[in-house]
Amino acid sequence: MRHVAIVGSGPAGYYTAEACQKQFGDQVRVDIIDRLPVPYGLIRTGVAPDHQSIKGVSRRYEATALSDNVRFVGNVTVGIDVTIAELVGLYDAVVLATGAPADRPLGIPGDDLPGVVGSAAFVGWYNGHPDFAGLAPVLSGPGAVIVGAGNVALDVARVLAKTGAEFTGSDIVGHALDSLGAASHENITILARRGPHQIAMTPKELGELGHLERAIPHVDPADLPPEAEDAALEPGLRKSVTHLRNFATLDAADKPITIAFDFYAMPVAVEGDGKVERVIVERTAIDAEGRANGTGETYVIPAALVVSCIGYRTPPIDGVPYDAKLGRFANDEGRISPGLYAVGWARRGPTGTIGTNRPDGFMIAEQIAVDTPDDYGKQGRAGLDLLLRDRNVDVVTFRDWQKIEAAEIAAARDGSPREKFTSIDAMLAARGN
Ligand code: NAP
Repeated sequence: MRHVAIVGSGPAGYYTAEACQKQFGDQVRVDIIDRLPVPYGLIRTGVAPDHQSIKGVSRRYEATALSDNVRFVGNVTVGIDVTIAELVGLYDAVVLATGAPADRPLGIPGDDLPGVVGSAAFVGWYNGHPDFAGLAPVLSGPGAVIVGAGNVALDVARVLAKTGAEFTGSDIVGHALDSLGAASHENITILARRGPHQIAMTPKELGELGHLERAIPHVDPADLPPEAEDAALEPGLRKSVTHLRNFATLDAADKPITIAFDFYAMPVAVEGDGKVERVIVERTAIDAEGRANGTGETYVIPAALVVSCIGYRTPPIDGVPYDAKLGRFANDEGRISPGLYAVGWARRGPTGTIGTNRPDGFMIAEQIAVDTPDDYGKQGRAGLDLLLRDRNVDVVTFRDWQKIEAAEIAAARDGSPREKFTSIDAMLAARGN
């Protein structure tokens, strides 16, 4: 029997559990530990609330969670309730699937002014993550500036621009729906430090901006490279660029909200009297290596909200080797040290789709098979249970989560799949006795 502890119940965690089941059959016991009382990580609090089809993958994780040899151990913080060294002592393999939930800092003067938020915080706010439920972003004023040209920037722009009715069928939390419905920025600017050919936005997600009720995307035709150069692009990117070419033909005056793509533009400072009032932007030029360099030409964009969507970092855990430059655990193809592994974004950084984490999980399961003997005599979950009981840790089981989920479904507004609890206390209370 192999005992495996997975830290983090997001996609990487559940795909690893599924892979361990496939690899070891009934000769494995998997405990999935999460600091929240609710599972699914990025699926619950990262994927946009109006992208329910993507969130549907949680049903697959539920099937894994409900199998006999997999347990959810919620409301347990590794590093506080139990240490990594203790887990490594108890389990044959400990897999860190903690994702990359921390914002990469913008690193420019004024980035600490009220009104500057990272995408983890902003996305967490509208998705009901308990850490960010109290964020209260500024939703009206001279404008919103979004930094970055990836899919998260698109999520943020779309959520800022949508009407209340456009969230029908989504599970955006009530506090965000109410605030967004009551106010909106008329000028939303997406700052891309490079050009249309260097965006990290995928075509389906970019195309959505062209179908919003009260907002219209705008691209300056002068920023578009000659059309003939599109032929050399990878097909997905070529489709995205085709969307940008279409956006360049639209009339921004047609709808009250404009989502303007500002290419070759990087923020160099955020200014304001005690809060964000403007962003100083420097025009860039791309060098032969494809890097964006400042040209010295600057201009001002009035703004009350700045959302930086420039990528994420994995928070370090005491005692675990960490690569500060890359913002993730130091690892060799997932191996950190004997008995300790990293998977998903905690292993390779915040890239790829949800499904990219599946092969990651299978790779780690194969490594565990190679690295660990069949039966090493470790205590596994029995040892963890004793230790957590001794420390009076209030563990949330998958059955408890199902009660929390039932309460969220019961509280849903019309047309919405659920109304999420946004505090840990409310989640624990909903589980009952
Ligand atoms: P991303 O795809 O890596 O995009 C980050 C963007 O930020 C890039 O445009 C990058 O520009 C820019 N950037 C980085 N540092 C910057 C700086 N200091 N100043 C200005 N701009 C900077 O990251 P993401 O949008 O956070 O997405 C993370 C992953 O999740 C991606 O794989 C994404 O596709 C995925 N995702 C998918 C969906 C979906 O499928 N619906 C939704 C959300 C996220 P450079 O290219 O110049 O570095």
